[in-house]
Amino acid sequence: MTKLFSVQKTPSPTLRILYRGGPIMQISIHLLAILSLGSYVWMGGWRGITPGLLSSAVAYGVVWYILGMFATTLFYHRYLAHGSFKMPRLMQWPWAFLAASAAMMGPSWWVSHHRHHHQYSDQPPDLHSPSRGFWWSHMIWLFTTQPQRLPLDIERQRILRLWDRLYFVPTLLILLASVALGPEYAIAYLISLVILFHAVQCVNSVCHCFGTQPFDSRDNSRSNPWIALLTLGEGFHNPHHTFSHSARHGFSHDGYRVSLRPDPTFWLIQALAQVGLASDIRLPSLAQWQSKARFDRREMANSYQNRQC
Ligand SMILES: [Zn+2]
Ligand SMILES: [Zn+2]
Repeated sequence: MTKLFSVQKTPSPTLRILYRGGPIMQISIHLLAILSLGSYVWMGGWRGITPGLLSSAVAYGVVWYILGMFATTLFYHRYLAHGSFKMPRLMQWPWAFLAASAAMMGPSWWVSHHRHHHQYSDQPPDLHSPSRGFWWSHMIWLFTTQPQRLPLDIERQRILRLWDRLYFVPTLLILLASVALGPEYAIAYLISLVILFHAVQCVNSVCHCFGTQPFDSRDNSRSNPWIALLTLGEGFHNPHHTFSHSARHGFSHDGYRVSLRPDPTFWLIQALAQVGLASDIRLPSLAQWQSKARFDRREMANSYQNRQC
């Protein structure tokens, strides 16, 4: 047990077994969401639901979706995986709890897979490239892969290591609290987890297949405004792959100058900076932007669909 919570460069056999619980947890969440909603309707629970209860249950699910998505995009992705900005050490605790409560696995697991994806994006070693098939990149890869190396910068932080090993606990706690509130709230939380899972996976699948390529990222990453809407800015995946250190993903260009796109995750980072909870926000320089911008409009437009998908 002690070994499970110690710093590890490569996951030990015990840790690999623990990580195998991730896909099982996702399947269980999907099944529970379908079965609980189905049985609620089948047993006539909906007959007693008032408009007030329905709207508060929907709002409950939406709040958990937004919190879980921000924790994934702002904390796991832009902060931990790419170091796009800095934050006080104490703030990592609630963010890590929220990200794990979205059933997104733990910090070491998430960052390990994500850095590997950037290192080999759309090349044969890439674990979730659509070149192996759309559904592979969307979810099948989760059932067949394990992190090869764990990020030592994450592993050396005790609290992040703890949440990495206890990745299933926050989801379980929120689910139990939701059940205590009432079946409508438990169903809303489960449905929010299912939608969140597929929205995040769309960045791996849809955003490497469908969208535009305003920048030369040297891979198939694309900007897709619909996925950006669902993922609070992450769908602008082509600028992200081009300037992976940038805290802002939502930008493009009109051939002459940078044009900004709505990026709620970046807006939240800016808001946190205003109250001293974020600092050292990194953005690409004008020279970096100019060296990567594609000016051939036909090349940008024709790139809407990747032939591999
Ligand atoms: Zn990334
Ligand atoms: Zn990608």
